[in-house]
Amino acid sequence: MNKRVLITGAAGFLGSHLSDRFLKEGYEVIGMDNLITGSMDNIAHLMPREDFTFYHHDVSKFVHVAGELDYILHFASPASPIDYLKMPIQTLKVGSLGTHNLLGLAKAKNARMLIASTSEVYGDPLVHPQTEDYWGNVNPVGPRGVYDEAKRFQEAMTMAYHTFHGLETRIVRIFNTYGPRMRVDDGRVLPAFISQAIRGEGLTVFGDGSQTRSFCYVDDLVEGIYRLLLSDFAQPVNIGNGDEITIMDFAREILALVGNDKAYLDHRPLPVDDPKKRRPNTDLAKKVLDWQPTISRAEGLAKTLPYFLDKVK
Ligand code: NAD
Ligand code: UDP
Repeated sequence: MNKRVLITGAAGFLGSHLSDRFLKEGYEVIGMDNLITGSMDNIAHLMPREDFTFYHHDVSKFVHVAGELDYILHFASPASPIDYLKMPIQTLKVGSLGTHNLLGLAKAKNARMLIASTSEVYGDPLVHPQTEDYWGNVNPVGPRGVYDEAKRFQEAMTMAYHTFHGLETRIVRIFNTYGPRMRVDDGRVLPAFISQAIRGEGLTVFGDGSQTRSFCYVDDLVEGIYRLLLSDFAQPVNIGNGDEITIMDFAREILALVGNDKAYLDHRPLPVDDPKKRRPNTDLAKKVLDWQPTISRAEGLAKTLPYFLDKVK
């Protein structure tokens, strides 16, 4: 019998890549998604497969899955700032009620559960680069609080099930990840800049563009998550690429990559509580998973551009 894995958020960017990976490794995959930010386009190629089943369901409501489950990967949640600002209550619910439902399911099925946490648990960090033992600097009542606090609660709830129920759990803190299947209009910086450059519009650089991010290609992230799930390590682990860049330099890099002379830089106001710096320290991932990113930004962007050229009208 193949091992069975439930992936929530399967029709999203990361969930669809994880579904591909687990199917490739010989698992039976059950995808679950309510399609609030995801798209069936991302998993259309999986629908005819016998080893893939899709449930259209909101995981903030009671979750039932028939039969045995070996693993649960909880990736359902709005993930882009404009998405969670538009859906603050759903974001809080999927991180809290959704996580509780899935932990209950994991306990009932004796399955191992991995949750998608985030570098946002560090907020606007006062420690740089961010190590897992940093507790963060989050404004709970600011606009980003709905996401950051949902994810912090999610970690606390998951650790409580581990400690008090002995459930096998894993926590990945994901730093900015990109690649094909990101929604073109999800508002995150890479889809925004690439589609603006292709259309010959202004690249909307928020603030003076001096804030930094560190971008990880999706295949590297998926490898790290796969290793973490199969490891015996229950504490949070950062997965990301340490190659830090300012948003202004990133905009220039995208302009050069796309090569559309009509595109230009267009400064816009900086969103409230936008973290000024972000870079993962991935020493722990190296130590416990023997994982390090292998795909440079130049290589990852070259793999990503054709998807956007195809999607952007
Ligand atoms: P995404 O928006 O592409 O995917 C999220 C998916 O979850 C979507 O398909 C959406 O429809 C689904 N969903 C949302 N609420 C749901 C609910 N209540 N019930 C069922 N399905 C629901 O985003 P993504 O980038 O693929 O992010 C996936 C996960 O990874 C999220 O939990 C996010 O917080 C986390 N994460 C992503 C990044 C990144 O850089 N991509 C960074 C940190 C954390
Ligand atoms: N950003 C920007 N222009 C955009 C979208 C985002 O300058 O059109 C900036 C944003 O202010 C932040 C960084 O790019 O500093 C990354 O934003 P994103 O929404 O991708 O993710 P975050 O890391 O903030 O969750």
